[in-house]
Amino acid sequence: MAKYLVLLLVLLLSSCSKNSDDAQALLFEEQMFVLGTIVNITIYGESDDKSQKVFHDLLTDFKYMQAAWNPWKKGSLSRVNKLLEASEQPFVIGPAVKRLIEQSSVLSRKSEGMFNPAIGGLIKIWGFHQDEVPQGPPPPKALISTWLAQKDSMEDLELNGLILKTSNRNIKLDFGAFAKGYGVDRAIEHLKSQGVDNAIVNAGGDLRAIGNKDGKPWVIGIRHPRGDSVIASLKISGDESVFTSGDYERYYEYDGERYHHILDPRTGYPANEFTSVTVVHQSAAVADAAATALFVAGPQAWERIANKMGVDQVMLIDKSGKLIMTPKMERRIELIATDHSMVVVSDKIK
Ligand code: AMP
Ligand code: MG
Repeated sequence: MAKYLVLLLVLLLSSCSKNSDDAQALLFEEQMFVLGTIVNITIYGESDDKSQKVFHDLLTDFKYMQAAWNPWKKGSLSRVNKLLEASEQPFVIGPAVKRLIEQSSVLSRKSEGMFNPAIGGLIKIWGFHQDEVPQGPPPPKALISTWLAQKDSMEDLELNGLILKTSNRNIKLDFGAFAKGYGVDRAIEHLKSQGVDNAIVNAGGDLRAIGNKDGKPWVIGIRHPRGDSVIASLKISGDESVFTSGDYERYYEYDGERYHHILDPRTGYPANEFTSVTVVHQSAAVADAAATALFVAGPQAWERIANKMGVDQVMLIDKSGKLIMTPKMERRIELIATDHSMVVVSDKIK
């Protein structure tokens, strides 16, 4: 629900930059419900026929990704999860999963395992694998300790071409922290290949934007982690992705505690230092993985992990409402109804 609000806010902000009826006539906006969220496609400067056609291409692609990448419902990824569990014997995987495993393994290593797509078992223990948000109480400590002892990691996978094998049969892959970014990258690649130069692919508030709108930058809103307002905006022209991980997206409360869906693989519990982490990077896949990783890393480790993952435009909001930023982010972000005294700029990232 929260993501839909952000989506609306993004649309509102971008519509504020409308400067003429002509520009409006060249603006195409359609949405689809895929990958568990509303994906909004904005195209500027193309004929309606062409925009309709590429929109339908993207719809077909996203539906395919949705079917292939669900860890628990019948499809390529759930098949991989079943076969990983069945034996240590090698087996052949589908190409749609291969690239996900390859790219996410590299990012997982750089994040020192804070972004860990082999975390599916723990997500299931917490009940966040279901469509419905689970209710409390939190799972028994013993189950979490058992998962921690397994040390499920992407390093346990051996991939040669399309042949996958593991020595750890507990592993369950879940690309919830990454697939959206990876999918948005594929969508932008397709748009570019069709000669579309100005567009936004916005998956529930996480997006990649290319080009501009009638010579004016796209304006992107970042949601306040508490409440439905916008905390900041960013102007984008060229080619950039903006991804946010937040503790408000999927959570329940039990005994006054918030239990949310971003889990710290070191403790087995929801990461509880930040409320929201936004990363800007050209690649949506990197921005998605990094937003999750830095959320998990917390105040002590986020700068080290950001440097390793190659991201230098980050805003992190902590529980006290403090806004921590890299210098590059601080230089470009526009805060909305937020006191600048709450901003701290990191000196560990250039
Ligand atoms: P995001 O909103 O991109 O941060 O992704 C959150 C989703 O990623 C969760 O709903 C889980 O499916 C999954 N997830 C949670 N914690 C982690 C983690 N530490 N590493 C990788 N995936 C995670
Ligand atoms: Mg993510």
